[in-house]
Amino acid sequence: MVDLKQNVQYVKSVGPTKAALLNTLNIYTLNDLLTYFPREYEDRSKTKNIADVIDGEEVTIQARVVSEVNITRIRKNMVIIKTVIEDDTGRCTVTWFNQTYIKQRIKRGEMYRFFGKITREVNHLEMRNPVFDEAGKEKNTGKIMPIYPSTYKLSQTAIRQAVENALLMLKGEEIETLPEYILKSYNLEDLQKSLQEIHFPSNTENRLSARKRLVFEELLVMQLALLELKGKNEDYEGIKFSKDVKMSDVINSLPFKLTKAQLKVLEEIDNDMESNKPMNRLLQGDVGSGKTVVSIISAYKAVKSGFQVAIMAPTAILATQHFEEFKKILEPFNIRCELILGATKPKQKLEITEKLANGEIDVLIGTHALLTENVVFKNLGLVVTDEQHRFGVRQRETITSKGNHPDVLVMTATPIPRTLALILYGDLDISIIDELPPNRKKIETYAVTKRMEERVNNFIRKNIEEGRQVYVVCPLVEDKEDDDESLKDIEEKENTERKNQLEIEEMKIEAFKQKADLKAVKEWTEIYQKQIFPDLRVACVYGKMKPKEKEEVMEKFKNGEIDILISTTVIEVGVNVPNASVMVVENADRFGLAQLHQLRGRVGRGEYQSYCILKYDSRCSQVGKERMKTMQETNDGFVIAEKDLELRGTGEFFGTKQHGLPEFKIANLFVDMPMLKSVQSVALKLEADDRGLKQEKNQKLRKLVDEKLKQSISL
Ligand code: ADP
Ligand code: MG
Repeated sequence: MVDLKQNVQYVKSVGPTKAALLNTLNIYTLNDLLTYFPREYEDRSKTKNIADVIDGEEVTIQARVVSEVNITRIRKNMVIIKTVIEDDTGRCTVTWFNQTYIKQRIKRGEMYRFFGKITREVNHLEMRNPVFDEAGKEKNTGKIMPIYPSTYKLSQTAIRQAVENALLMLKGEEIETLPEYILKSYNLEDLQKSLQEIHFPSNTENRLSARKRLVFEELLVMQLALLELKGKNEDYEGIKFSKDVKMSDVINSLPFKLTKAQLKVLEEIDNDMESNKPMNRLLQGDVGSGKTVVSIISAYKAVKSGFQVAIMAPTAILATQHFEEFKKILEPFNIRCELILGATKPKQKLEITEKLANGEIDVLIGTHALLTENVVFKNLGLVVTDEQHRFGVRQRETITSKGNHPDVLVMTATPIPRTLALILYGDLDISIIDELPPNRKKIETYAVTKRMEERVNNFIRKNIEEGRQVYVVCPLVEDKEDDDESLKDIEEKENTERKNQLEIEEMKIEAFKQKADLKAVKEWTEIYQKQIFPDLRVACVYGKMKPKEKEEVMEKFKNGEIDILISTTVIEVGVNVPNASVMVVENADRFGLAQLHQLRGRVGRGEYQSYCILKYDSRCSQVGKERMKTMQETNDGFVIAEKDLELRGTGEFFGTKQHGLPEFKIANLFVDMPMLKSVQSVALKLEADDRGLKQEKNQKLRKLVDEKLKQSISL
């Protein structure tokens, strides 16, 4: 039997020198090498005719060499090796730099396969630095090639060769790590084939099934190990909401039909609510996927079962908007909704808190104001936090502690590592809305520089003339002045009211933001109203505005009485004005990806084709440019969250402790979230059927989990 733990140096073609280099990549054993998975692949399998290749494409060409190989010295350290190849459809020049040995390896008149990048100009076609094989003896072309994370001293070829030899050592060996019945029931490829196909895929489909199996195993073992570490789930007695309250009653009253995905997540929520385990569920759905209505329906269930509901939103505007939507749908069912904001008048606050304590309010919607001590519920049964990435774990704890193990629903479009960690550790169950309501058009995104300014302004005008409305978002302006009134206020409060430290910090940050906010918005409003669109209706909102005024402006915008609304990110999350079809972001390179995605989500909410215009500084950082590129390329919140982390982080975003996420060899929590979801249920089922994995049929799993536990998983 092959010993997977044997030192990697004994793999053919490795030896002590290469082994030392492999060690620097954390590859010590045969098994380490086999599970050193490619970072990406290069598809050299598609061959094309010379006539069909396009500029910039990486492609394989099978062709005959029709000229002598020509070497020209162009500078002291630079020679060019050049030849011409031909197939039935055309000719192409091939060049290499400094690789003089090529002259010995290529013969005029022979057929080869070349793989490389094409440059196509009007009268000239060229492939630079291609790899090549004699036709019929393909080694480097004609297949899908793995690309490994590498060090500069160790070539791709060396790693490939080592892996290839390692795979040969497995031939005929019994290496399967998962029980037969698991492979069968979840339709998974066996390990032999999976390893072969993940390293050297015969085609993309096989590579994907190999990946699926390997990810499944990695996540399953992690989940089982975590379950054992946590021991028995702390079994709090939660609330059992009434089975007699039917969500369908409120669903049938809606002006639109719910999507399949919304119905599915509601079913999951309904089951949780009716069980006696406290619900802890993350509702992930891209911007505009309709999360709010899901929370409204859940609130209905809670209230009609005799409980109160708290809805926490990160901004006053969003809380206000939720309040309106909740009222619209729930008031016909005699459900009493109320709104509480930081800026709510003390007298009114007092009234609200009294009613709340008496049970005369059913649903309380608010911002951080919900967290304050004097907000006391009579009977809190359900807590919803919207755009959860804005809230800290402690804030969520504060709000849930206002009830007796209430059910919790957190909603987000772009999960952050902390959220992913909670999911991974089984502290949050997942519901995914993976479809948008029908008839949504894809938002077209353009990143533009100053040169395009005039065209952008014309474009804005054109849309407004067609009856649409426009958002302009500008970033905060840093302001170093110290004599800030509101800061002083806060410090005074700090002394007199002994508020908790967290709250004080929050308030300070908020005060700073509001000030910076005001300055930015004023400057931009000036520019837009006075200089560019004197004839249009331009208005602004900013953090420091009185809530009443804010509400008025938002109301006017909703009613179409304002053409262009200028703001900072106060509108970032959640605002819903279907007639707005253009989102312009000033200095877009200063915003994070998640934020840009949220902002873009403000348009494309109605029937109109919508646009997002990201104005950026052509001199901005590389990361800024990457962000612009990502925004233009994708609309997918998960992809964006992943990219965001990659750009912000060190590149190896799962390894780092600070995210609280364990290192995976192949799984990627963003991409593999649906897989994690199903694996979690597999793990729970296994635990229910065979706690401790003692049965004969689960011995292979037992072994995997023991190994994992030995590697110490930090919780
Ligand atoms: P998000 O998930 O970003 O919070 P919202 O809940 O704000 O999205 O929903 C966006 C818009 O889509 C709202 O106007 C909402 O009323 C509408 N909406 C939600 N579900 C549906 C549906 N099934 N069909 C049509 N419109 C819907
Ligand atoms: Mg929302």
